[in-house]
Amino acid sequence: MSNVSLSINGTQYEVPKELTVLDAARTVGIDIPTLCFLKDINEVGACRVCVVEVEGARALQASCVLPVREGMVINTNNNRVRKARKSTVELLLANHNRECTTCVRSKNCELQSVSEELGIREIRYSGAKREGSYDDHSPSIIRDSSKCILCGRCVSACKNVQGIGILDFTNRGFETTVGPAFDMSMKDVPCIYCGQCMVVCPVGALSEKPSTQFVWDALEDKTKHVIVQSAPAVRAALGEEFGYPIGTNVTGKLASALRKLGFDKVFDTNWAADVTIMEEGTELLGRIQNGGVLPMITSCSPGWVRYIEFQYPELLPHLSSCKSPQNMFGALAKSYYAEKHGIDPKDIVVVSVMPCTSKKSEIVRPELEVNGTRDVDISITTRELALMIKEARLEFDKLEDGTFDAFMGDYTGAGVIFGATGGVMEAALRTVADVLSGEDLENVEYAAVRGLEGIKEATVNIGGLDVKIAVAHNTTNAGILLDKIKSGEADYHFIEVMACPGGCVNGGGQPIQPANVRNVIDIRAERAKALYSEDAASTVRKSHKNPEIKRLYDEYLGKPNSHKAHELLHTHYVSREKFPL
Ligand code: SF4
Ligand code: SF4
Ligand code: SF4
Repeated sequence: MSNVSLSINGTQYEVPKELTVLDAARTVGIDIPTLCFLKDINEVGACRVCVVEVEGARALQASCVLPVREGMVINTNNNRVRKARKSTVELLLANHNRECTTCVRSKNCELQSVSEELGIREIRYSGAKREGSYDDHSPSIIRDSSKCILCGRCVSACKNVQGIGILDFTNRGFETTVGPAFDMSMKDVPCIYCGQCMVVCPVGALSEKPSTQFVWDALEDKTKHVIVQSAPAVRAALGEEFGYPIGTNVTGKLASALRKLGFDKVFDTNWAADVTIMEEGTELLGRIQNGGVLPMITSCSPGWVRYIEFQYPELLPHLSSCKSPQNMFGALAKSYYAEKHGIDPKDIVVVSVMPCTSKKSEIVRPELEVNGTRDVDISITTRELALMIKEARLEFDKLEDGTFDAFMGDYTGAGVIFGATGGVMEAALRTVADVLSGEDLENVEYAAVRGLEGIKEATVNIGGLDVKIAVAHNTTNAGILLDKIKSGEADYHFIEVMACPGGCVNGGGQPIQPANVRNVIDIRAERAKALYSEDAASTVRKSHKNPEIKRLYDEYLGKPNSHKAHELLHTHYVSREKFPL
């Protein structure tokens, strides 16, 4: 790697020649403000907040897309540059619905931050404002284009990261907007509700459909028995909303906070993740031994399920028939738990706390109902739980570490790692390996399925059988594997797919980190570490060794994949190929 020599703000530096001016400045400790820029996702120089003056160039240059050159003389902070940046942001604000006090992104808005950092105290421009559209018809996502600043991050996340392309620029000039074609509702296009557009949006133009008031109402209803489950990835990110470093595991405080909010029982979806392994592992062995459809693909991620239903419906027989842990929990809460505790299932309200916006759409899928009853009544995101904790004025950092209720809350290390890409596969291998070998194997860690490589492939010899596996995260990578299956190139037995990049730890419902954090920290890796360390510290790390799981099968379901288990814990899928026409 060779260097170039250049001057920034009067000081001479040597920097690698591959850098942009923005990166070069940051490398030598000089910060340049940005707005549309998001490393590896949106590097387009559209907003012009990052402009700098380059000697010899008449116009100011967008530093995020400007390569460094030998002998460049750059000024990042003079009157001309500062005034230009201010005018750019003032123009954005002039055409913006400035509802800061009530906006979902207030205090976590990059437009708010940059205008504060630039010292904007008035908006000197006035005139016509672009008419915005407001769409809250989908079960998961609200789009408010009156707050959109046309940065293009969501367009890139949906098209380039997820390989889907629901959102794009439409119209021209002053009328330009970002949204689905013909300004259709998100519910009428093949959106998988993954929320990856939302977590990259710098402002309040995309947000989750709020459900917290339904939870408060249920908690106040004395005729209802309200129980809550919290997904594995929530504990790896909730702390960020209360100032903890990214990757802090807050399991104990999470349990305490849920109890203080007033839930009758505080359970953990990790327990249901252990149930999923029992059901899915048994289904996989059955398919291998009885010539069933292979490869079998996991079905825990509702965004992924929507993706295959829309894009590859001919491959639906490859999906495991298992419901997701969220819904397995709900189905068992309204049957097993209800019977054991003598409560009428109609009086039970099941609330789920999920890192995922697609889960809000999953709970209303009719295919998941048992005898006309929904498994889960209300699904809120990690962000919404943080909001409830703040509304209740709980001092999160002062909460004692608590525990989940044991009955449907005791879990193993295998259940915890469900939240990271490769985690479901590793958890399944731990159980399948014991079953095939007939032993209690010591090795429980499968390094080949860990990490952030887009597609991980391995052959694992278990009990004398070579099991070929693959793990994909994000739907672009999932599509690559599905194309291989279609062309007959793939000879895997088992595939894990998670719709979100990095898995649920980076789901659309997790705390939103601004670009200046995401540009330097891989939040997916840090949050995953929190889960793997909880797994490593667990005394029980295999799902089939969980005493509460043994009790479930001994006292209620009989055995995995039994008739009763099928009735409650398995589902079917529908082709959405013709949707929405
Ligand atoms: S998006 Fe940001 S600037 Fe716009 S109303 Fe919301 S908080 Fe205010
Ligand atoms: S939710 Fe996912 S699929 Fe839908 S528009 Fe956003 S990124 Fe695209
Ligand atoms: S919706 Fe958000 S991410 Fe998408 S272009 Fe508008 S401001 Fe940018």
